[in-house]
Amino acid sequence: MTKQNENHKIIDEDIYAEELYKDLIESCSMHVKAKDIQFIRKAFDLAKKSHKGVKRKSGEPYILHPVAVAKIVTSEIGLGAKAIACALLHDVVEDTDYTLNDIEHLFGEKIASIIDGLTKISGVFDNSSSLQAENFRKMLLTLSDDVRVILIKLADRLHNMRTLESMPPNKQLKIAGETTYLYAPLAHRLGLYAIKTELEDLSFKYRHPKYFQEIASKIYDNEKKRQQEINRFSLPIIEILSQKNIEFDINGRPKSIYSIWNKMQIKNVPFEEIYDLMAIRIIFKSENKETEKAQCWRIYSLITDIYTPKPDRIRDWISSPKANGYEALHVTVMGPNGKWVEVQIRSERMNEIAERGFAAHWKYKGNKTNEGELDKWIKRIRQMLENPAADALEFLDEFKMNLFASEIMVFTPKGELRTLPKYSTALDFAYEIHTQIGNKAIGAKVNHKLVPLNYVIKSGDQIEIITSNKQRIQTEWLNQVKTAKAKTSITDSIKAETKDRIEKGKKILENKLKELKVQPSSRVFRKIIPEFQVQTKDELYSKIGSGIIKLDDLKKILKKNTKNKLIRYWSLQFSKSNTTNKEKKNKQTSNTKEFDYKQPLIISDDSENEKLKYDIAKCCNPIPGDEVVGYKKNETADVIIHKAKCPNAIKLMSSQGNCIVVAKWTSQKHLSFLAKLTLSGIDRLGIASDITNIISKELNANIRKIYIETHDGIFEGEIELYVHNVQNLNNLILNISKIKGIDSVKRDESFVK
Ligand code: MN
Repeated sequence: MTKQNENHKIIDEDIYAEELYKDLIESCSMHVKAKDIQFIRKAFDLAKKSHKGVKRKSGEPYILHPVAVAKIVTSEIGLGAKAIACALLHDVVEDTDYTLNDIEHLFGEKIASIIDGLTKISGVFDNSSSLQAENFRKMLLTLSDDVRVILIKLADRLHNMRTLESMPPNKQLKIAGETTYLYAPLAHRLGLYAIKTELEDLSFKYRHPKYFQEIASKIYDNEKKRQQEINRFSLPIIEILSQKNIEFDINGRPKSIYSIWNKMQIKNVPFEEIYDLMAIRIIFKSENKETEKAQCWRIYSLITDIYTPKPDRIRDWISSPKANGYEALHVTVMGPNGKWVEVQIRSERMNEIAERGFAAHWKYKGNKTNEGELDKWIKRIRQMLENPAADALEFLDEFKMNLFASEIMVFTPKGELRTLPKYSTALDFAYEIHTQIGNKAIGAKVNHKLVPLNYVIKSGDQIEIITSNKQRIQTEWLNQVKTAKAKTSITDSIKAETKDRIEKGKKILENKLKELKVQPSSRVFRKIIPEFQVQTKDELYSKIGSGIIKLDDLKKILKKNTKNKLIRYWSLQFSKSNTTNKEKKNKQTSNTKEFDYKQPLIISDDSENEKLKYDIAKCCNPIPGDEVVGYKKNETADVIIHKAKCPNAIKLMSSQGNCIVVAKWTSQKHLSFLAKLTLSGIDRLGIASDITNIISKELNANIRKIYIETHDGIFEGEIELYVHNVQNLNNLILNISKIKGIDSVKRDESFVK
C-alpha cells in the first residue's frame, strides 16, 4: 500500500466517523443537555483516535460499532450523556493501549468504574470458549455496581447481533446461543421488551434459519389479511374513543417470530393454528399521572361495551406492576370473527416503560414504587452472589429460576403487597418477610385457613405466618422453598445453629467431665462416641447441645470397659468405614444353617416332642436365623421364643431354668417376622425412596413403619419390616448400606413393639 493510499483511507475514515457522530447527536438530543454535548464529543474523539485504522469483520471502520452502541443506548434505552460516553468508550480499554487510569484521568471516576465493569464482563464472558456458570456469576457481580453496565452491555450485544452476518458460522451459533440463554432473559428482567424481542428473534434466526424463514414468510403472506382484521376490530373502538374525546393511538403488532415458534412448540400446533398472532395496543395521552388508572378502566369499559371480555383474562398490571416495572391493563375480548384478541391499554408513560424498561423510570422520577422493585431485585441477586458457599451451577439454576419464573403477588395480614416467584410456598413467604419469621415458622394461615408451611401460595393470597419460639429449622425445609432468599437463609441459619449447638454441647460435656474429675482425653472419646452411637465428636457435641443425648449415665459409661465391645459385636452393626464389622456379618450369614422342615420351629421339650404352640417374644423379636430359646411358663402355656441373648431370656434361664425349652429355626419362606433397622447418614433428597425401593424391590419385604428424622443435614431413621429370616435381613442391611449417603445401618436387637 502506498503512502498516498493510506492517507486517502484515513481521510475517508474521518469523514465517515463525522457522519456517524452527527447522526448520534441528532438522535440523542432528546435525552442530553446542550452542555453535555462537549463531554460526548470528547469521548467520541478518544474512541475514534484509539480505534483508528481498525476494521470490523464486515470491513467497516471499527468506530461504527461504538457509535452504534451509543445510539442504541440513547434512542432505544433512553439513557443520558454519561451512558453515551461509556458506550463510545466501551471497547477502548479492552482493545487499545489506553488504560483505565487514562479514562479516569480524562473522564472522571464514575465513567472509569462503568468502563471497568464493561471490560470485566468482556474478560470473563466474551473470551471464554463456552458459557461457564462461574463466569456468569462474575458478570452479574458487576450488575450490583451500576445497572448501566448491563444496559450498555445489552446494547453492545444487540448491535453485535444485528451485524452477526459477517461472523463465521460457528461464532454465530455461540453468540446466538448466549443471547437466548442470558441476554434476552436479562433484557426481559430489566423490562426492555423491545430489545428482548429483537434479541430473541435475531438469535432464533441464526439457530434455526429454516424455521425463521418459514415463519417470517408466513407472517409476511398474512400481512394483508391481518391488517384487514386489525382494521375490522379497531374501527368500532376508534369511533367510540374519539367520540369521548380520548386522545390515543391504536396499533396491532404481530407477535414476534420467536414467540410464535415457542407457542407452536408448546402447543404442538402448526403456524395456521396460532390464532392470537396479534395484540392490539391502545396508547392514550394521559391527563395526568393520578388519573391514568381511571382512564385505563374507562377505556376498558368502552371496549367491553363493544366486545365481550373473557372473564378470567383481565391482567391489572397498574394496581400491582410487574417487578420489572411493567404497567398496563390487559384484557382479552371476543373479536368480530370469533377469535379472542388481546387488548393492552397503556398510557404514554406506561408505554415508554414497557418499551424501554426501568430506564424510563428515571424520566418519570415521581414513580418511586417501581424503582423500589428494581432495587429489590438487585438486592436479591446480591444476596445470592454474596453467599460464598453456593455452588456456581446451583446458583445459576436459582438465578435462572428467579429470572424466568413468573411472579405471584400476595399480601401480608396488614395488606402489604409482596412479589414472589410462582409456586412459592408459605415458608418462602415467611422468609420473604424476615429470616427470623422463617426460622420460627410452624404453620401459616392462608386466607384465614390453616395450612402447612409447604403449602403453595397463589396470587392474591393473604398470608399470616404462625411462629413459635420452640421451632427449630429443619433441613428438609430446603426442599419446601423455592426462592433463593429462603434457601440461603435456611442454610445459613442451620450452619449458625449447628455451630451454637456444638459449642453448647462441648461446654456441657466439659463441665460434666470436670464434675467427674475426668480429663477429656482421646481415650474418653473412644469410649463415649460408640456408646452414644455417633460418628464424630461434633455429632456428639451437637446432640448433647440439643438435648438428644443426656449425660446422666456418663459416670457409668466411663467405668464400663470391655462390655462395650461385646455389645457392639452382637449388634451386627455395619458401617461403611468399618470393614471388620462387615466381616463379622459375613461370618454370621454363612453360619446360618438352613433346615428343610415345614414347621418354622422345632421346639423340643423333654417330656413330649409334639408340635408346640409358640409366640414370638415382644421384647426381642427374634427372626429365623437368630439363636433362640423357648420359654414355657407352665404345662398349658404357649412357648415364648426369645433370642438367646435377650436379657429377659438370660434372666429366665438363670432363674427358671426348668421352663426353658430348646428351639431351632427351620428354613422359613412363608411366614414373615417383624424386625427393626435403625439407620443414619447424610440427608439428601430422595434417600427415603431409595431405601424403600431396595426393601420392596430386592426382598419383597413389607415395610410396617418407616420413620426418618433429619437434623443438621444428618438423618436418622427407623424401619420396622417383615422379613423371612436373618439371611434376608442381612442381605437387606448390606444393600441399604450401599446406598449413597447411608453411614450406618443396623438391626435394632432390642426393640419393643
Ligand atoms: Mn463492543
